[in-house]
Amino acid sequence: MTTPRARKALDGIPVYRPGKAAHSEDHKLSSNENPYAPLPGVVERASAELARMNRYPDAGMTDLYRALSDRFGLTTDHFAAGTGSVAVLFALLTAHLEDGDEIVHAWRSFEAYPIAADLTGARSVRVPLRADATHDLDAMAAAVTERTKVVLVCTPNNPTGPVVSASALADFLAAVPDHVLVVVDEAYVEFVRDPGAASGLAALAGHDNVVVLRTFSKAYGLAGLRIGYAIARPEVAISIRKATPPFAVSDLAQVAAVASLESQAALDERVEAIVQERIAMVAALRQQGWDVPDTEANFVWLPLGDDALDFAAACDPVSVRPFAGEGVRISVGTPEVNAELVSLAAAWREQHPA
Ligand SMILES: *Cc1c(COP(=O)(O)O)cnc(C)c1O
Repeated sequence: MTTPRARKALDGIPVYRPGKAAHSEDHKLSSNENPYAPLPGVVERASAELARMNRYPDAGMTDLYRALSDRFGLTTDHFAAGTGSVAVLFALLTAHLEDGDEIVHAWRSFEAYPIAADLTGARSVRVPLRADATHDLDAMAAAVTERTKVVLVCTPNNPTGPVVSASALADFLAAVPDHVLVVVDEAYVEFVRDPGAASGLAALAGHDNVVVLRTFSKAYGLAGLRIGYAIARPEVAISIRKATPPFAVSDLAQVAAVASLESQAALDERVEAIVQERIAMVAALRQQGWDVPDTEANFVWLPLGDDALDFAAACDPVSVRPFAGEGVRISVGTPEVNAELVSLAAAWREQHPA
């Protein structure tokens, strides 16, 4: 008897397994979520949409694209939204990759990259980070072949934290052929304070092959509603829209995103509070002797190597994100839980002198 068989490409893709439930939501420093409640007015505006759930959402995402157009000074056809920027990336890759094509990205970087590549049947080419946890853009440019259709640049890099510098991105874009799409994943851009950091938007202004990915999940605190978007030249944005399932983004998410964009002052305030907590956390951990890479995101990376799983277990009741054999990513949460984590880290070091 034969049974239906999914594509071979799926064999290497892990099934999602939920982690251990956190002690409390505030103790969950494992998913780079925003510890703050939604911005002022967002819950009220979204609540009004709840009563209209018998209706399909606006598939044209009119209000959202208009708000983004106003925000960035680009016509509405420069945007393509989806159920989180990961879904936008999947749509982009579906639209541009065929079996046997190659996609180049740094490693360790965002876990969704190799999965997204595998799903399309493309080959993902992983270029190791440098010792300081930054992208090695020279090696990434050298890894581009005639099969390469897409390069992914994650800045700040999840899970290690550093940004790509503006000059490094400029050199990279000069080196990469114009027909290769360069995706600049800026999921954490709001937390960046380094004046020398690359800007995906500035790169897009000079290069037709750049695609910027943004999300409402992190700084804006809408992770549970699933909404993110790409900014690209219209032909590319349209290709993403075509590859996105219709009605994917709920009106609830669209309205919440628009209301969040209107709450810029409150957003800036809480992002700045998270940045200050990050700076304090990095300083405290370095003081304890940890080798923490520079981070411009809402998380810090501890390069623990083989101790990653042990350390994560020792952090209980704080839940952090271990990468076996590599390190642990810790999201910046509320000041109380950050302090708890910092003392757990100190206790661990006392028991494991370097
Ligand atoms: C969190 C994250 C995203 C965005 O995820 P969505 O919730 O799907 O918008 C994208 N890229 C990176 C690197 C991330 O860490």
